[in-house]
Amino acid sequence: MRKLRQAVHDPGRDHINVHARPPGAGMVDPFGRTVSYLRVSVTDRCDFRCVYCMSEHMSFLPKRDLLTLEELDRVCGVFVAKGVRKLRITGGEPLVRKNIMWLFRALSRHLETGALEELTLTTNGSQLPKYAADLAACGVKRINISLDTLNPDRFRQITRWGDFAQVMDGIAAAEKAGLAVKINTVALKGVNEHEIEDLVCFAHDRGFDLTVIETMPLGDIDGDRTDQFLPLSIVRARLMARWTLEDIPYHTGGPARYVTVKETGGRIGFITPMTHNFCESCNRVRLTCTGTLYMCLGQADAADLRAPLRSSSNDEALSGAIDEAISRKPKGHDFIIDRRSKKPALARHMSVTGG
Ligand code: SAM
Repeated sequence: MRKLRQAVHDPGRDHINVHARPPGAGMVDPFGRTVSYLRVSVTDRCDFRCVYCMSEHMSFLPKRDLLTLEELDRVCGVFVAKGVRKLRITGGEPLVRKNIMWLFRALSRHLETGALEELTLTTNGSQLPKYAADLAACGVKRINISLDTLNPDRFRQITRWGDFAQVMDGIAAAEKAGLAVKINTVALKGVNEHEIEDLVCFAHDRGFDLTVIETMPLGDIDGDRTDQFLPLSIVRARLMARWTLEDIPYHTGGPARYVTVKETGGRIGFITPMTHNFCESCNRVRLTCTGTLYMCLGQADAADLRAPLRSSSNDEALSGAIDEAISRKPKGHDFIIDRRSKKPALARHMSVTGG
C-alpha cells in the first residue's frame, strides 16, 4: 500500500518521550505517575453535533466565561515550565475558536526552546483546508482527525451538521501540509461497526494510523448509550478474522495500545476505557476553556485555575494551585454504562474536557 513505509518507519514518531523532563521540574502524582501531558479544550463549541457526543440543542458557555487566548497561553506556559512535554489542543472544535492560530503561534515558542516535545491537536477536520499549512508552520507535526464513517449519508447522520466532502478536503490539506495524520474512530454498535475494516484500508492506504475508541458515558445526549456501546474486543476479533494483528510497544504518549496489521504494514490503536482500564499509565490532565483542571477524564473532581490565574500577574498562585491539583489526581476512573437508569456516568460532555 502506498506511503506505508514512510509512515511506519519514521523513527521520529516511534517514541514520544513524554516522561522526559528537565532536571528540577516535574509533576508527580500520589501514585508515582509523572504528569507530562496536558490537553487543553479551547472552546466548548463545535460545528458538528455528533450523536454520541452532544445533544442537538446544546447551550454553550457565554464568551465572558472563557479564558482569553493570552490566559490559555499563560497557563500552558506554567505547565510547560513544570514539566509538561506534550500539549494537545482540543475542544469542542478547537479550530472554530476565533483567532486560534495566535495561540498555536504563541505556544510554538516552547517547541523552539525544546521545553516542549510535541504540540498537537484533535480536530474534526472541517477547518483544515483553511488552517493545515499554518499549523505545520507552527511546528505541529501530527494531528488527530476524527472520522467515524466513509459514507457521506451516515456521516451526516452521525455528525448531524457535518459535511463529509469538507472533511475529506481537510484531510487532503493536512497531507499536503506534511502533517502526519491519525484517524480517530469511535466504534458505534449498529452504526459504523461494519465499516471499521474500510476505515483501516482508507487510513493505511494513505500511510495514516487509525485508532478505534470505545464510546464513553460522558454527557447527556438525546439517544440511548447502551444501544451504541460496542466493546473493542469484538472489533479486534473481526479484524483478526481478516488480517494478522501483531502487538507492538509503540506509544504516542496517549492511552492507545497499538498493533501492526501485517498485510498492510499500518498501525491500529485501540482505546478501551470501558473494557480495559488504562489508568495505570495515565500521564495526563485536562484543562477546560474556563480554566478548570480535571485530573481524570472519568471523575468529577476538578481544580479551578482561573481564580489563581487572575489573582496576580506573577505565576506563583497558579503554580501552587496546579501542584495542589496534581496531589489529588485519582488512581483511575470507574465508568459504567448503567443499563437501568441509562444515565451518563458523568453529566459533563466530552466537548467540555476535550477528547
Ligand atoms: N472536535 C474535535 C474532534 O472532533 O476531534 C475535538 C473534540 S472531540 C470531543 C474529541 C474526540 O472525542 C472525537 O474523536 C470524538 O469522536 C470523541 N468523543 C466524543 N464523545 C465521546 C464519547 N462519549 N465516547 C468516546 N469518544 C467520544
